[in-house]
Amino acid sequence: MRITDLLKQKKGPTVSFEMTRPKTPKGEANIGNILDRVIALRPDFLTMTFGAGGLTRDVSMQMLHRILVERKQLVMAHLAGYGMSPENLDDTISGFRELGVENLVVIRGDRPSSEDFRMEPGSFAHASDMIRYIRPRHDMCIAAAAYPEGHLEASDLDADIARVKEKVDNGADLIITQYFYDNSFFYNFRDKCRKVGITVPIIAGVMPIYSIKMMNILADLCGATITEKVLGGLATLPPDDKAALNEWGIQLAIGQCRDLVANGVDGLHFYTLNRSSSVTGIINGLRADGVIE
Ligand code: FAD
Repeated sequence: MRITDLLKQKKGPTVSFEMTRPKTPKGEANIGNILDRVIALRPDFLTMTFGAGGLTRDVSMQMLHRILVERKQLVMAHLAGYGMSPENLDDTISGFRELGVENLVVIRGDRPSSEDFRMEPGSFAHASDMIRYIRPRHDMCIAAAAYPEGHLEASDLDADIARVKEKVDNGADLIITQYFYDNSFFYNFRDKCRKVGITVPIIAGVMPIYSIKMMNILADLCGATITEKVLGGLATLPPDDKAALNEWGIQLAIGQCRDLVANGVDGLHFYTLNRSSSVTGIINGLRADGVIE
């Protein structure tokens, strides 16, 4: 099934979880259980990330096999095509299709740090160029990434939104956003998108907080603002109490999602980092309150 059809059918917002490849032996040993736990939460779909440049393509394929073939769970395959030749993009998408994947998240990615990485001939500079190439060649549903606070490399939000418009004009069927801790960033971004004529569904990214260290690392990487509200809330917690922090993060995300749904969000996309406890608390809380189906 295509995510565009799902979005049309659903009365409320879609619920989806981003999964990543396990990066440690412990992560690899646990991934089957984590997948079973998040799928038991009845998401509309999962998404599976992709290492930019394609060096970890086989691991993404194995994960897609586990999700789609073994567990029959609808999934979007990310394709971060940084440095990949058009032929490699085609070949990778053909591999996805053989597994039964009908949905792609096409992103540029960032330059891999691996010494083995080489730019391939003909690779594309931006996600919009990749989407322009892929759209007429592969009959699939395509999502693009966007950034409610603007991408770190962009001069300002309006310039970045003009790039999002290019992705949609080149064939993206929907948008999935980076996470944010203040919904006003999302509403401002969505209003601006609509004003420039972007009409496709915009799914909001949500990042549950469960570790202050991880929150700071990820915010540095992607430029998400850690708001006064978040800092103030964290300051009320007992120091080094992981359970209290986890529960506080769940309640914060439930409040954020409740407000997004009240304001007509098309979908809620949770960055799980291959953890199930936060999303379990959030989804159960939202269902108990009747916020999502
Ligand atoms: P682009 O759309 O190419 O934009 C990158 C920058 O270039 C922006 O500042 C934009 O304004 C600018 N730009 C765009 N087009 C042009 C143009 N024509 N001329 C000049 N400037 C331009 N990373 C991974 O490695 N793997 C993943 O699986 C992955 N999944 C992601 C999923 C989501 C939903 C999100 C939000 C991010 C994801 N990322 C992933 C991170 C992403 O790769 C990085 O944020 C990357 O820096 C930008 O990717 P992009 O597709 O937004 O790039």
